[in-house]
Amino acid sequence: MNVLVINCGSSSVKFALFDDNETLIAEGKRERLGASTGHSETHKDAVAAIFETVSGHQIDAVGHRVVHGGASITQSQRVNDAVMEAIAEHIPDAPMHNPFSKAAIEAAQDVFTSVPHVAVFDTAFHAKMPRRATTYAIDQDVAERHGIRRFGFHGISHEYAAGIAAEFLERPLNELRLITLHLGNGASACAVEFGRSTETSMGNTPLEGLVMGTRSGDVDAGVLLSLLRSGEFTVDQLDDLLNNKSGLLGLSGQGNDLREIQQAASDGDDRARLAINVFVHRARKYIGAYAAAMGGVDAIVFTGGIGENSASMRRRILQRLEFLGCVLDEDRNYDASISSDKDHALITTGRSRVEAIVVKTNEELMIARETRRICETPEPRTPKSIPIAVSARHCHLTEETFAELFGADATPTPKYDLSQPGQFACEEQVTIVGPRQEIDGVRVLGPLRKANQVEISRTDEFVIGIDAPVRMSGNVRNSAAVTLKGPMGSVHLQEGLICAHRHIHMHPDDAAAFDVADGDEVAVAIVGGQRDLVLGDVTIRVHEKYVLEMHIDTDEANAAELGSVAEATLSPIDVDDDEFAVYTATPATARLTTL
Ligand code: AMP
Repeated sequence: MNVLVINCGSSSVKFALFDDNETLIAEGKRERLGASTGHSETHKDAVAAIFETVSGHQIDAVGHRVVHGGASITQSQRVNDAVMEAIAEHIPDAPMHNPFSKAAIEAAQDVFTSVPHVAVFDTAFHAKMPRRATTYAIDQDVAERHGIRRFGFHGISHEYAAGIAAEFLERPLNELRLITLHLGNGASACAVEFGRSTETSMGNTPLEGLVMGTRSGDVDAGVLLSLLRSGEFTVDQLDDLLNNKSGLLGLSGQGNDLREIQQAASDGDDRARLAINVFVHRARKYIGAYAAAMGGVDAIVFTGGIGENSASMRRRILQRLEFLGCVLDEDRNYDASISSDKDHALITTGRSRVEAIVVKTNEELMIARETRRICETPEPRTPKSIPIAVSARHCHLTEETFAELFGADATPTPKYDLSQPGQFACEEQVTIVGPRQEIDGVRVLGPLRKANQVEISRTDEFVIGIDAPVRMSGNVRNSAAVTLKGPMGSVHLQEGLICAHRHIHMHPDDAAAFDVADGDEVAVAIVGGQRDLVLGDVTIRVHEKYVLEMHIDTDEANAAELGSVAEATLSPIDVDDDEFAVYTATPATARLTTL
């Protein structure tokens, strides 16, 4: 699959064409676009020129970078009406980017009519940040009316850099706490906690946070009010001051190219020195803050033009971080040269507990990968309905236990197949004997297993008079003891009685469609039954052999007033430390509830 990537910036358009093996077939960049740059070439002209350049090549899909997708877009998406609406809706939030992306997508759709188009968003990686990180401490009615919240940007680069770092560290991303620093003309930091962005320095717009080429980053909002009150600045002039005349440029009075500032600083220019010091101090401050926010850090990752190329800035930023366990290796740092052939370099010593790594960012490759992934993922069903199976009390037995209960020569007699392939309910039933009462007619499920497991509900526990732990199926070590009675004898099991942890079986395709992974804990809204109900602590179980189905026990089904076998529309919901956000499947009907 050849993927054409189009990356529209505020005054430039980059493109790259990758083949199946991620080999770059063609690339290019058209800069200084638009009247504001004093040139006559527009974005539209540039996109047309790119299409002309690639016209001899086969194109199977087109991936588009989009800066702002807002809160509802949490991952790359096939371009459809809802996606175009989200891009248009956020034009006021990203006026220098979203209009051009929208126009580029429309132009590409006109030329490449029969191939999929995928939008890859700079905001998507941050869209699941916890509420405490997305909320400004201002009047919440005002915030809601004006859509004022933190979004974060540069997500494509942060996610890519985190992925390369995890590969280098040979550890799964979901076990790592990383701080990624994208330091270029635009600059931002990101706390990548177990694979997810939980905090980032850019906020409602790409103006917040670190010192950038021409953007100020953090400024006391009171200063802006003073400047407006002074009468010296109109709103547009203030915008120009903060976005185009601040940062390294404003501090140094030299320009926004760090190399020139470094030269001036070494020639003794005090403002150039101050520019470097403020830039470094701010970056270091964010590292400390993010290490604290995550409760630790495994690696610090540098990327972007400055992060990749300036050993002296990396050294300055990492100074004084020994207390965190981060010990720079001066030689490695100065020798760290990265290129398209070598996309990362370690710059800390062997005894450093926190590694520092330089990663060559490659947003175009990330967009191509995302485009391919989305094209290869089946389109999610709408609505994302998960059948519920209410599992009555049952047991899984070993060959030995089965023989003791039903006779030495007995084998399980299949009665009917269960939904998970290979599983069946048997004719055979047992009685659970407890100190208080017995429960008979408990069905045996086949095939026989290596360990005995008896699954009952909380109510059953009261009936028999045994307290059983809540466990995932398969985890019976040190669970409760119980006696089973069959027609040919009874068996006392030292362990095996559990109250089953509710879970959802998913095929990997379903997991991709729901954007969850094996072992994830989600909360699930049951919104189709007699009574709406949200169940927390639902574990996702992913396997090639699984069929999409949620398993709950009879108590839970009763609480939702579901019948013995029911089907309802369920929606996985995001669980944060302190909040539940409930989403239904389709953005059109999205329901957001804070419980
Ligand atoms: P980007 O926006 O990621 O292309 O980064 C641009 C920034 O990286 C500019 O400030 C450049 O001055 C800076 N940069 C690029 N190469 C070097 C280098 N070798 N040393 C210092 N800064 C560099």
